[in-house]
Amino acid sequence: MKKNKKSSMGMLGKHHSSETILKMSKIRNGTHLSNETKEKLKKINTGKHLSEETKKKISDKLKKYKKTKEHIAKVGLAQRGKKHWNWKGGKQRERHNGDWKYINWRKNVFVRDNFTCQICRKVGGYLQAHHIKSWAKYPKERYILDNGITLCLECHKKIHNNAKVGDTNLWTKRLTT
Ligand SMILES: [Zn+2]
Ligand SMILES: [Zn+2]
Repeated sequence: MKKNKKSSMGMLGKHHSSETILKMSKIRNGTHLSNETKEKLKKINTGKHLSEETKKKISDKLKKYKKTKEHIAKVGLAQRGKKHWNWKGGKQRERHNGDWKYINWRKNVFVRDNFTCQICRKVGGYLQAHHIKSWAKYPKERYILDNGITLCLECHKKIHNNAKVGDTNLWTKRLTT
């Protein structure tokens, strides 16, 4: 019985001296409390009270931190979106919008390839004209018919992901936009 109590007291914390444990066990046993014991008990209680408050403070801080994090995430997203929009809008507009030379080149590529994907041989559907020599790196070849190849959307995506599809000689050496 006594042994059990001692060990359960020990579980409350390693900082209790054996004297304290003895006193606490006396309290539990309902013995008279000395002033010293009362003082110690107060301290323990105060300690507990503080730790509860601390817990609350910590959780409040965490809540604020979470809010800040959310805010940062939102702002970050907005900025990313803006950047992305600028990048895409700018690039796309510069590239194709109202560019009759590009539109004409693409049409000629499709006609030459009989509107057939040159990788999977799918005819028609959503076709794209791929630049064998990249639009960005070879501005002089942007409107050269031989620099264009008709691809379906799927195959176009694949070759830009460097997947080896179809006759790889056509584009693995000379990639692309
Ligand atoms: Zn295809
Ligand atoms: Zn391409």
